[in-house]
Amino acid sequence: MKIHEYQAKEIFAAFGIPVPRERVASKPAEAAALARELGMPVVIKAQVLVGGRGKAGGVKRVEKADQVEAVASSIIGMDIKGLRVNKVLVSECVDIKGEAYVGIIIDRATKAPVLMASAAGGVEIEEVARTTPEKILKVAIDPAAGLLGFQARNVGMALYGDAKLAREFAGIAQKLYRIFLAKDCSLIEINPLVQKTGTVPNRPGDSPGFLLALDAKINFDDNADFRHKEWEEMRDLSAEEPTEVEAKAAGLTYIKLSGNVGCVVNGAGLAMATMDLIKRYGGEPANFLDVGGSSSPEKMVTAMRIILSDPNVKTILINIFGGITRCDDIATGLLQAVGTASEGGGTRSESSDDSVMSLRKVPLVARLTGTNAAQAQEILKGSPVTPADTMADAVKKVVALAGGER
Ligand code: GDP
Ligand code: MN
Repeated sequence: MKIHEYQAKEIFAAFGIPVPRERVASKPAEAAALARELGMPVVIKAQVLVGGRGKAGGVKRVEKADQVEAVASSIIGMDIKGLRVNKVLVSECVDIKGEAYVGIIIDRATKAPVLMASAAGGVEIEEVARTTPEKILKVAIDPAAGLLGFQARNVGMALYGDAKLAREFAGIAQKLYRIFLAKDCSLIEINPLVQKTGTVPNRPGDSPGFLLALDAKINFDDNADFRHKEWEEMRDLSAEEPTEVEAKAAGLTYIKLSGNVGCVVNGAGLAMATMDLIKRYGGEPANFLDVGGSSSPEKMVTAMRIILSDPNVKTILINIFGGITRCDDIATGLLQAVGTASEGGGTRSESSDDSVMSLRKVPLVARLTGTNAAQAQEILKGSPVTPADTMADAVKKVVALAGGER
């Protein structure tokens, strides 16, 4: 789960990481009032759950108080990479001497958190990572010991070549790691971490140091949501992939991908294996979808509707290893999905929108094995669903139906 910059900065402030004086607004007039409180100039920043706002015109410096309302109203409602801007952050303008990058993620290779930092921070960090990866420093964090002072100071020295700044940096990096653990983050980032110029007069409320988190990014690890009831309130559903929201509400785990073979699978491991096999036979999966255990027929209908809302889907593979999940339930759900597709007119149910209607045009291949597999075969007899005996057989059929190897 992603949260907005202003939400991430509230967490930063609570843990003692210095941030600019700033407040969030959802109306232009509100933004203007906040700017008068903060003092000019200010920076107005679109709050949207996607990177590269600056380059998309979502970050603007405003010199005069009477221009704030107009600038805020040009940013609120703006479309950035398909997402609508509903809020802006009105932030004191900081005089910048340098921009660094610092972040923590889980490194899959070492299976531990890694601190990453670069003196080349700012809006081009992705470019830096791609073209000059040696400019990004990485330090593995031992989960038992945490981020140690000397490790963080060494990185600080490499960035600034100055002991005082290195100490200040280390304090910030260690607080970042504290947040990473306490809030179950999968990613935490400051870009840019700015060094203020020495000439800025300290205003009341200013941090005493030279380093400041000008931008903030936090992703939470969804697997920990059961112990963070507060996330529910922080969630901005309007900013998330709508199909993923619908899937979550229905108890399905759905991740949209870029291929054309839709997948309905039970169990995350089998879903991964199914996607691997699709690739092995030259196809490209359109999604990851785990229907979980004890799936009801309704869950199947929802799953099919979600998959079909992706216009790239050419065919769907249903791969079920029946344990607690009963194959006959899956078959019944499949028929319901196909049924709602061909009824039309007055008998159409809630769920029968255009995406399920288009099911007719999408060939289905089902490999159902395990609990009540025989009943499932019976149920599907004479239906448009193509049966398959083995996983390999099913995958070969579905890849061929999707147009063969890419
Ligand atoms: P992003 O493009 O979504 O990452 O937005 P950021 O909040 O990181 O801002 C992008 C860039 O705008 C920063 O790297 C800075 O160069 C610039 N910027 C943002 N706020 C300020 C500010 O208060 N003062 C100055 N001088 N530049 C700023
Ligand atoms: Mn940034």
